[in-house]
Amino acid sequence: MLINKANQKKYSFDCNGINFSQDSLNLFLGLNAVDCPENVKATFEALQANNMNCARMGAYKPRTSPHSFQGLGKKCLPYVIELANEHSMKVIAMEVTHESQITEIYNELTRQNSLATVMLQIGTRNAQNFELLKAVGRQNEFPILYKRGYGITLDESLAACEYIISEGNQNIVFCLRGMKSLFSGDHRNFVDVAHIPMLRRLITNPIGFDPSHSVGRYNQDIFEVSAQAVIAGANLLLVDVHPFPEQALVDSKQAMPLSHIAKYLADISLCRNTFKQRSLLHDSQNIIIKS
Ligand code: PEP
Ligand code: MN
Repeated sequence: MLINKANQKKYSFDCNGINFSQDSLNLFLGLNAVDCPENVKATFEALQANNMNCARMGAYKPRTSPHSFQGLGKKCLPYVIELANEHSMKVIAMEVTHESQITEIYNELTRQNSLATVMLQIGTRNAQNFELLKAVGRQNEFPILYKRGYGITLDESLAACEYIISEGNQNIVFCLRGMKSLFSGDHRNFVDVAHIPMLRRLITNPIGFDPSHSVGRYNQDIFEVSAQAVIAGANLLLVDVHPFPEQALVDSKQAMPLSHIAKYLADISLCRNTFKQRSLLHDSQNIIIKS
């Protein structure tokens, strides 16, 4: 069960040697939408230069309009996986919008004897696509990065995750990405970073956060909300980057240039240390605060 009942122990799983739990922090920077091999290569090069071994790469894109770029789909998998291996990547977060895409990804990983694997992303628009949730739940090859629904309650998103679990796969990261709201000010979505400590209390699975879709434009706020998320105990960050942000085919406004990655990571590292120090402080105080 995702819901933490009766102080059930925190849930932890490994994927390709990487641990995902409420004690870990894994960073998934990368392309929102794969556009060409050159940009995939440049992105993996930058990630590898920064000692990263996870990434995001969108092949199948769920778009609001059918007239917008829909992602390259299956066509780009051969070079995405080949380049991931060349750059020692271990886990690539990749959204799926249909059950058949799980097989396409599996077949390409197998064909290439890939050392890198994939974490299947369920996008916010599919947060209650119960057939898709059951399909990702029926397989145990890949873990799941579940994006909360942007227009439904937190409980409804948590209940939807139970569809995945009820089919047999509990390897889920529950990822926040902001809520559709008239009250979000200058942000694309209402930044739901305050739900991180709440979810740490309510659920056993690791908690992710997507600053790019929360803020929706690349500015200092991406750094600020990422910092808040990590200090609050986020376990995974999903961040859009691009070698030429203005040329990105999807969500170009929110992509971080590759040259800013090092500074971003240094900032995250400061915040992770603060999270650890705060955990020690709170654990060492013998004051019981009722939940
Ligand atoms: C994405 O991360 O590529 C994406 C489409 O996000 P969301 O489903 O949160 O809008
Ligand atoms: Mn998007």
